[in-house]
Amino acid sequence: MWSAALDLRLPDDVANLLSANTGIAHNQLAAMTLSHDLPRQLLLPLRNDGRQWASTWLQFCCRCLAEDAQPYFRRRWRLATRVSCTEHGCRLRDRCPSCHGRIAVFDQGELVPQHYCVACGYDLRRAPIPYLSPETRTLDRCIDNICSVEAIAHAPSGPVFVRRLLGMPSVGGYYSTMILTSLSTAARAYCADRLSRPDEWLVDDATDDEKDCKERRLRRLIPPTSDHRAWIELLANALGRRRGRPVASEGNEPDIKLPDPLGAYARMNPGPGRREVQELIGT
Ligand SMILES: [Zn+2]
Ligand SMILES: [Zn+2]
Repeated sequence: MWSAALDLRLPDDVANLLSANTGIAHNQLAAMTLSHDLPRQLLLPLRNDGRQWASTWLQFCCRCLAEDAQPYFRRRWRLATRVSCTEHGCRLRDRCPSCHGRIAVFDQGELVPQHYCVACGYDLRRAPIPYLSPETRTLDRCIDNICSVEAIAHAPSGPVFVRRLLGMPSVGGYYSTMILTSLSTAARAYCADRLSRPDEWLVDDATDDEKDCKERRLRRLIPPTSDHRAWIELLANALGRRRGRPVASEGNEPDIKLPDPLGAYARMNPGPGRREVQELIGT
């Protein structure tokens, strides 16, 4: 059960043992840990409460594992904000599809590759791909792109942004009293879907002229995708808007709804091919 802690801080005696037995230098081993490049508040904890909607720790993309010469779990799959794969666009999983148990790679009696379920031996590379809406994929990709420790630390809205990410389940539905890191991948995907779908927001009864005007104003407000600080502020405001919270900083446009910047982001930064994912879902 201390595997998760090892990834955050590798004790000297364990590092010595690993280095002596593998011939890998200490600095290389340190670079393989989660170290400092992911926001700790957003990491999925290692839990075992058995509830279907609860988080379990590791997530995986079955297609990534299937394509790896030596299958491995990506660092960024530890983030609660991640529900899809950057490479393939499909939804991640956090449970074995055969026995529905969590991925307990620390709980094995013998050394076997980690893409086999410890409990039942199922090959996780064969797991079916769950559906994820294109809007949810865009939200996931957009957050992942701007969500580095460095960007959050340097953005004035960084702490508000992290709090609002953790509060994403409060948009309503089944999980409103939970924080993001306590939920399963499926439950988090549900929350992200509720937030990112345009039809979840109030119907816009503006005239065509007003809509044109809004569109032009919106275009001026959308920063380039490389400006992470501006995107953190934009998303922090958009995530807070629904429940009528104050905006993250003075002088920012208050009436941006989340689907607006997401639509702009999808146009500026198209993700992995949707057709390919659709084809796989259809099979
Ligand atoms: Zn993948
Ligand atoms: Zn299993």
